Amino acid sequence: MLLPAFIDSHLHMLGIGYYQEIIDLKSTKSINEIIELVKDKDLSFLVARGFNQANLKEKRMPVKQDLQEIDKPLILFRICGHVAVVNQKMLDLMKIDESTPQIEGGSFDYNTGIFTEKALGLVYDKIPEPTKEDLKRYLINANKILISNGITKVASDDFSSFNVPYKLVIEAINEVDEMGLLDVEITEQINLPIDKLQDFISKGYANKRFNNFKMGPLKILADGSLGGKTAALFEDYSDDFGNKGILTFTDQELYDLVSLANKNGMDSVIHAIGDRTVDQVIKTFKRVQEENPRKSQGNAIIHAQLATKKQIAEMKENNIGAIVQPIFINSDIKIVDERIGIRKYDSYLFKTMFNTINTGFSTDSPVENVNPFENIYIAISRKSIDFPEYEIFLKEEAFSVEDAIKAYTDENIRFVYDESHDDYIEINQDIYQIPVEEIKDIKVIKVLKKGKIIYEI
Ligand SMILES: [Zn+2]
Repeated sequence: MLLPAFIDSHLHMLGIGYYQEIIDLKSTKSINEIIELVKDKDLSFLVARGFNQANLKEKRMPVKQDLQEIDKPLILFRICGHVAVVNQKMLDLMKIDESTPQIEGGSFDYNTGIFTEKALGLVYDKIPEPTKEDLKRYLINANKILISNGITKVASDDFSSFNVPYKLVIEAINEVDEMGLLDVEITEQINLPIDKLQDFISKGYANKRFNNFKMGPLKILADGSLGGKTAALFEDYSDDFGNKGILTFTDQELYDLVSLANKNGMDSVIHAIGDRTVDQVIKTFKRVQEENPRKSQGNAIIHAQLATKKQIAEMKENNIGAIVQPIFINSDIKIVDERIGIRKYDSYLFKTMFNTINTGFSTDSPVENVNPFENIYIAISRKSIDFPEYEIFLKEEAFSVEDAIKAYTDENIRFVYDESHDDYIEINQDIYQIPVEEIKDIKVIKVLKKGKIIYEI
């Protein structure tokens, strides 16, 4: 069966490639298993990612005391990438002790070794920097993975994945492209702090197009995650009295970023998960548009996990799209009750969004597996793949097969700044006829780009 090739409107190309080379904790089921996995690695600096405390036997975050037997600097990133735990060796390397002042927009705890949000900058600063050759290798590997999954276009956030100048990333991508090894067309979601964004604009990079690579919207991270209890909510977390999460920016800081982009012909795509952040983002877009009206192609909220129907209507009024990840339901289904209680009925309203505003699917890979059929399966079934014992999550928000494919193709064209899309894939099943349960196992057997076969098994 032939389908249009998929477009993923928010992921991290470099992160996908890098993930192949670090310790993967996604399948770990206990803190002991994490320790066993990292302790035998013959590396002088240990970076691992992908644990989820909801899946661990202990049902809690690992803390530095758990990691005492590891005598090298060690960083364990949570699956979301917004929270990490480090061991004492790493704290020593970072020169952090009880008296080190906190970082605004984030937090760290010397006693547990847990770092969140902007405080992760301290951790990233110490990870050995990749060279341009490393970046190119990550890209080449990511390209292969995406094509074999039937994805030929992406919007990708890569400038802040590592502590390297954004120009090095641009050079690496263009060199891979010139080598003829970039089949996936990349629209970069420009993730830069305001001083670097100014530099980027002054050097004429805004909206610049290369061959298979072009500069897209500004990408802003406005809060954290529900799993890490760092997404900003109006009311307390149901299981953490007094905690309302973290807004990464003040209203003025967020305005300054979006306004600077807008004045220079750039849209903004903003990571917002909690309802308080969604509200801040809508108000910011509204203010910027009133002051300097400009026809946007792709202003959007990425994730919008806790966006109420009222907020979705406000997004429509302000021409704000949604870039959403049905696959997040796969593990969030376990925590949504305890984290947000009754507010779960206002969460993951992806079908309502699809019916109201421009809504495209993405995976945020390497946060989640990049496989579109798993994402589509969850959009249609509203069930978890890893935890099938949980009941269907808000059935009225389930997609039809047709609409799910649309959200992965047509709806995403706008987010990769194209007018049309003429890539195709051949799959091994008739997606419209097979039982829903089998959709997640569909395989791509051929990829056609502009009429040419570029992948075949
Ligand atoms: Zn992301």
